[in-house]
Amino acid sequence: MFQTRPFDPAWHAPSSDGRRGHCSWHGRGSCGGAPVVSFLDDLGYRQSGCERALDELRGRGLVHQQRDPDFGEVG
Ligand SMILES: [Zn+2]
Repeated sequence: MFQTRPFDPAWHAPSSDGRRGHCSWHGRGSCGGAPVVSFLDDLGYRQSGCERALDELRGRGLVHQQRDPDFGEVG
């Protein structure tokens, strides 16, 4: 289960897709969607996901339906 938070570009590494406002889950080249969620994937990488990515992750049971309550606030 991935830990999620509302999308925050500042949480992502400099020059990453997330920092630049792109969806890193699908990849900047293949997804024009604006990120709505930030999350740690199973390898511990910080990912950003568009609405479609969030739907896919929910469908696969990889993220909670709601923001992970114990993941804390953006910071
Ligand atoms: Zn996407």
